[in-house]
Amino acid sequence: MVRQREKESRRVAASAIGGSPTRHVVGHEDIRERLAGVFRTGRAAHAYLFSGPRGVGKTAIALEFAALVLCDREEPTACGTCRQCLSSGELQHPDLHLLFPLPSKKAGSADDDEREFASLISSHKAALAHNPYMSSKPAKAKDIRIGLVRTLLHRTAIKPFQASRKVVVVLNADTMNDATQNALLKALEEPAPDAYFLLTTENEGGLLPTIRSRCQRIRVSPLTSHEIAGALVQSGTPEEQAILAAAMGDGSFSRALELSAANLSELQQRVIGFLRASAMCDPMELQTSASALLDTGHLPEEIALEFLGLFLRDVAVLRASGQQGSHLFLFHGFQETIQGVLTSYPQADFEEAVRAVDRAADFLGRGYTREWVLYALAIRLHECLGPRASSNTKSTQKQHA
Ligand SMILES: [Zn+2]
Repeated sequence: MVRQREKESRRVAASAIGGSPTRHVVGHEDIRERLAGVFRTGRAAHAYLFSGPRGVGKTAIALEFAALVLCDREEPTACGTCRQCLSSGELQHPDLHLLFPLPSKKAGSADDDEREFASLISSHKAALAHNPYMSSKPAKAKDIRIGLVRTLLHRTAIKPFQASRKVVVVLNADTMNDATQNALLKALEEPAPDAYFLLTTENEGGLLPTIRSRCQRIRVSPLTSHEIAGALVQSGTPEEQAILAAAMGDGSFSRALELSAANLSELQQRVIGFLRASAMCDPMELQTSASALLDTGHLPEEIALEFLGLFLRDVAVLRASGQQGSHLFLFHGFQETIQGVLTSYPQADFEEAVRAVDRAADFLGRGYTREWVLYALAIRLHECLGPRASSNTKSTQKQHA
């Protein structure tokens, strides 16, 4: 619905999903079973490239596969209890080499730089082990350093330290510049028999064709709302909140996780407040409700407009299907308000109202002044709602409903 995702906050509530990554991959059973199958029958490729949009589980799948490759037991999935699994689950396995983008080097002492980045790498690894759906890029990260790739290739050229194989996982592989990609390419061209390379990317075009052709490509598609909602409920999110967050997740578990950690019912109230002020076209009310609407905490502002669009969608569902459609409502617990809007504005064009909200979200994403965007939207919503029914008409309609 809202196309501008760039400004989206990268923070994901790590607490919402716990434990080792091997136990927490959402969906994608087909990919995971296929990978495990080819590995267990000795037909696995030495390099895989997982590509797909943000938050769909590329890192989680890669880390789960890495755990399987390192596990001591010959079971269909990593056992989760052997020595290898215990350290790979924490991303502390000496034969699991993890690369991700880092911020640029700072001017000053090289030693300080090394120390700072060693600590950043270690804390980011710990966070990823806890939640493989968080952003694989630490804050301000730019690219994968060539020095780290060279050091890593040197290490992978020797025998594994602890397991019988070694795995290199390169997250956001497209952030390597050409020189870094070429350094990695050498290893991909002549992989040691016991080495596996797992690359992830949201942007395949950012990789050299030579890298792409050396990897078996696996497309990781967006998840279904059902899969996301199920996983959120399992991680302790109340069902109604999970369904709403999943519907707004656009197939991204990371995004849904982020939404599910927010106070969505408060945001729902604000959306209704803004719609009420638009209906009345009261400047004072509008000023207050517009600022409240855009106060979304760490969530992107566009989220507020997505909510508004979902509320209007619920009203449209009620008009089209009557109460039988109420199980489709995303604004659970707001049935009376939804019914009230429908009864009060019998001539409203809710479909056009949803389109107006979409356009406003686009303007916000393009950086237009937010207050103006909301005022323009309020006027448009006022027009779309049409005249308010008199109380007589309302009571007649209620009897019919
Ligand atoms: Zn194991």
